[in-house]
Amino acid sequence: MSGTTPPTIRCPTCKAQVPWTPESQHRPFCSARCKLIDLGAWATEERSIPGADQRPEDPAVNDEPHL
Ligand SMILES: [Zn+2]
Repeated sequence: MSGTTPPTIRCPTCKAQVPWTPESQHRPFCSARCKLIDLGAWATEERSIPGADQRPEDPAVNDEPHL
């Protein structure tokens, strides 16, 4: 009953301790968020989406700062 500490791993994204148990559904990540961050980093590094950063500037949108 006591002394059974589950093995822990470190989340590759935020280095948090993650218990290696069936309850940790996002292993080796601590959360779905870290999982997505890691996958996102991979995707952007591996393949750059053509035209992704070419956003046509919409002149209709007024970005006036409201003071
Ligand atoms: Zn994490």
